Amino acid sequence: MSARTRADLEQLPAYVAGRTVPGSIKLASNEVSEGPLPAAVAAINEAATQVHRYPDMGVATLTGALAERYDVAPEQIAVGCGSVALCEQLVQATCTASDEVVFPWRSFEAYPIITQVVGAKQVRVPLTGAHALDLEAMLAAITPATRLMFVCTPNNPTGTLLRGAELDAFLDRVPSDVLVVLDEAYFEFVDDTDAPDGVEITRARDNVVSLRTFSKAYGLAGARVGYAIAQPKIAEALRKVSIPFSVNALAQAAAVASLRAPEELRRRCADVISERARVHAELTALGYEVPETQANFVWLPLGSRTPAFNEHCLANKVVVRAFGEEGTRVTIGTPEENDRLLAAAKSFPG
Ligand SMILES: *Cc1c(COP(=O)(O)O)cnc(C)c1O
Repeated sequence: MSARTRADLEQLPAYVAGRTVPGSIKLASNEVSEGPLPAAVAAINEAATQVHRYPDMGVATLTGALAERYDVAPEQIAVGCGSVALCEQLVQATCTASDEVVFPWRSFEAYPIITQVVGAKQVRVPLTGAHALDLEAMLAAITPATRLMFVCTPNNPTGTLLRGAELDAFLDRVPSDVLVVLDEAYFEFVDDTDAPDGVEITRARDNVVSLRTFSKAYGLAGARVGYAIAQPKIAEALRKVSIPFSVNALAQAAAVASLRAPEELRRRCADVISERARVHAELTALGYEVPETQANFVWLPLGSRTPAFNEHCLANKVVVRAFGEEGTRVTIGTPEENDRLLAAAKSFPG
């Protein structure tokens, strides 16, 4: 007899990471091409001599720096091993087996995996025809068993943004005992003046969490650090279900150093934003349908042509992220990288 694992895990799709192909450029994982901020690298080097010690379990320095940045109490913050760990902790902190998690689909591919692993029920709500979150349908999906909703804005992988007014009207109608997680992994790339700011929303609403990360704009995807801002009771529940010492010392040091370089971060995001506009305009001019995007990627809803486009890009040494026969997500890279993608898009026969 062999050791028994949970039967339901057999059906669980594995998380598909963007591929790294030697000799090719990688525009598959929404990383920033420029690398971490120099101050973060220096901080990691310095912290390296102390890795024989356990990290600060309470993540106090980083929590303090975030509290100051956002003008919230440290008790309102939970730091995690990437915001994806916090997504899982949020489900753990709110759901047991009979409870439901509502999320848009297609959206961040970790949502279904996490929900199933924790043992709660998935309720997937299709996007609108314009590739945006369907808030009306999400409201209609709420039942007495709903405990948590993921609201991803800008949405990964489609890039679409919810406007502040529509999000407010939605939140007014969500029962107050349902936790709404605003997944703002791409917040730093948003330049739409009507965009909501999740942290501001948490000041007025007890059932909202803002989830952000150092993985994307800050260029620390490999360090694994993200954070949640919410009411103290929620943040405390998140800390309770976290694995002890899961935020490592190098990640903490890198994140603290990164927060001290806001000007450099803004400049980098501005570069991505202007390249995003260029890539969007050129792809549109080539005849591609490209939804408006506020993230550091574009979505190409290519349908059945998705696998062929993927192969064509690979042949041109550009790695993109294809989702079945739905579409392809392409990260905005440096101008040279984007030129390579645009050249591949131009020569795509399909
Ligand atoms: C990348 C991403 C995250 C999580 O990133 P971490 O590296 O775990 O911080 C969370 N949500 C969305 C929508 C993402 O795209």
